[in-house]
Amino acid sequence: MKIKVMDKILAANDAWAEVNRKALKEKGIVMLNLIGSPGAGKTTLLEQTIDMLKKKKTMGVIEGDIATTKDAERIRKKGTAVYQINTGTACHLDAHLVNAAYNELARDKTIELVFVENIGNLVCPAEFDIGEDAKVALLSVTEGDDKIEKYPLLFTEAKVLVITKIGLLKYTNFNVSYVKKVFKKLNPFAPIVMVDSLTGDGLSTWVDFVLSLKK
Ligand code: MG
Ligand code: ZN
Repeated sequence: MKIKVMDKILAANDAWAEVNRKALKEKGIVMLNLIGSPGAGKTTLLEQTIDMLKKKKTMGVIEGDIATTKDAERIRKKGTAVYQINTGTACHLDAHLVNAAYNELARDKTIELVFVENIGNLVCPAEFDIGEDAKVALLSVTEGDDKIEKYPLLFTEAKVLVITKIGLLKYTNFNVSYVKKVFKKLNPFAPIVMVDSLTGDGLSTWVDFVLSLKK
């Protein structure tokens, strides 16, 4: 019985995801869905991305959080349009919630790029298609190098793996070559980008990936 209910939820979500995909195509908007654990560095990566791209692209950000507008306030300080979704208890964003959010952002007809910061969680954000062009999986070196095997769905679905906080590598036992090997096995064609958002290391490679996504 429980399984049937979940099937229905996912089917309804997929229908909304299709609506989003069509509308985003018509509007010429590229949408990226950033997924990672709490503290993986999603908001910090977004802040830096906005700084690097603001002369080239008109952007909008959808912030998903269970509570608070802390991340939305950080993004707003960068001068970028932002829409905060507070889910209350839900641990992921679904396609219907995202639909309302980008419609609000797309009232600015010049918007070309929308970043969704999903709820910090490696599990169900990966299950819910929101009609995005790319799921971006973030994995920080402080989380440990076993996460890809423990949460394979996200890393299979991702169009790119961003390994964050690489400046802290020397303080951890995170094995980069092992992580690369495990990821390649699950997802042979997705690129792997190593960044440190505080020092700026690797960010130009990440920005090139973002710009490579076209409508
Ligand atoms: Mg955040
Ligand atoms: Zn969830």
